Amino acid sequence: MSIFKKEEFQTYLKKIRTLAQGEFEQLEPEVEQTDRFPERFFELVQESGIYRCALPQEYGGYGMNDLELVQVQEEYSRGPGGMRMYLHYAMGMNWRILYDFGSEEQKREYLPKMLDATVFTCFGLTEETGGTGADLHTTAVRDGDGYIIQGEKTLISYALYANYAYVFAVTNPESKKDDRLSAFLIPMDTPGLEVLPMPRPMGCRGAGYGKLRFTNLRVPESCRIGKEGQGLEIAVHSLAVSRAHVGVSNLGISQRMLELSVARAKERVTFGKPLAQRQMIQSYLAEMGTYIHALRTMLYDFARDYDAGKEHETKAAMAKYFSILTAQKVSDYMLLIFGGIGYFEDCALGPVERLYRDCRVTWLEEGPPTVLKLTAARGLLQTNGALEYLEGGYDAQA
Ligand SMILES: Cc1cc2nc3c(=O)[nH]c(=O)nc-3n(C[C@H](O)[C@H](O)[C@H](O)COP(=O)(O)OP(=O)(O)OC[C@H]3O[C@@H](n4cnc5c(N)ncnc54)[C@H](O)[C@@H]3O)c2cc1C
Repeated sequence: MSIFKKEEFQTYLKKIRTLAQGEFEQLEPEVEQTDRFPERFFELVQESGIYRCALPQEYGGYGMNDLELVQVQEEYSRGPGGMRMYLHYAMGMNWRILYDFGSEEQKREYLPKMLDATVFTCFGLTEETGGTGADLHTTAVRDGDGYIIQGEKTLISYALYANYAYVFAVTNPESKKDDRLSAFLIPMDTPGLEVLPMPRPMGCRGAGYGKLRFTNLRVPESCRIGKEGQGLEIAVHSLAVSRAHVGVSNLGISQRMLELSVARAKERVTFGKPLAQRQMIQSYLAEMGTYIHALRTMLYDFARDYDAGKEHETKAAMAKYFSILTAQKVSDYMLLIFGGIGYFEDCALGPVERLYRDCRVTWLEEGPPTVLKLTAARGLLQTNGALEYLEGGYDAQA
């Protein structure tokens, strides 16, 4: 549980919603043009306390549990997509990889500096020459008391803002087991590390996408996170939690799209009646609401499991997969309810066109549907299809 009392937490949630739909959105036209966050965005994030939300109290954070984080994330996910991505990462993998797998020394050195983003990382897994996830060709070869890293990462969010990078590389190429990879935390100003920009993305603009190129990059052994060969475990574990939170992003944006759609349906009159009185339009709204309600229930259930230390990987994959279906359905119906004007930029009725583009990223962000289904199926095969609440009964006292 965090430092917030119940009423204080509700006030904090309102503050985050106001920020996301207020000042963040006012900055967005500039971000859409330049594909960069202005300095004011980072100041606002700092003032909002978001960097502190997830970090444990022992490191100076607010120490929110996952159920609280889900609610905070739903609020800021109502705003611009690129900013949402940045905050999602700041509250998640940025610190969690170190917290879960770093040495005491690494945690003491870096975690307090994440409270004000003096240390901010990016996550370097994906490669142009390999397939989704851990099909890697970047190598880290032992060299005395360190490693020499060679290779290239692509599609890396925040690469243009980060001063450290988590990098996953092959340390044991001969192995046929799960110990081929290791994880490193590398300062971005290390000689041999180059950042190359990416073209402008479809949506979620401003998140500083880049490629990372490593040429004879030498790092000491102290840069390694966890044991040699533990890289795959670190990536899989960190992505499992984070994927559920990508699902939360879809919850926030879908809720916003539903509210805009309801307002539009009430206001727009055709053939003498508001759209909201047409049964076909009501059927769209009912489906949107049903998907959103089901998604929120799945995500809260995931968060309770995570907070209780239960197995959560299967539910995380299912929740993120369902969130993609939700955002797709909700954004399609939103466009249909808005009609032609929703297809245009800067629509005075709301950022319909941008929300439609922004929510498409979650098809790919932290794993496409194939990977999510594979993960969910693996969990279901292990438990013969039974999720824990079907097997043991749901704890009505909880
Ligand atoms: C905006 C954005 C930001 C990103 N940020 C980051 C980041 O910060 N760090 C990072 O490491 N990555 C990042 N990514 C990369 C993202 O995780 C990948 O795009 C995603 O995992 C898909 O991998 P890929 O692009 O290599 O597609 P590919 O591997 O080429 O896959 C293409 C299609 O084939 C399917 N496919 C691939 N292999 C198989 C298989 N074996 N069996 C069945 N189907 C398969 C995939 O599901 C997909 O539908 C980002 C991507 C985007 C779009």
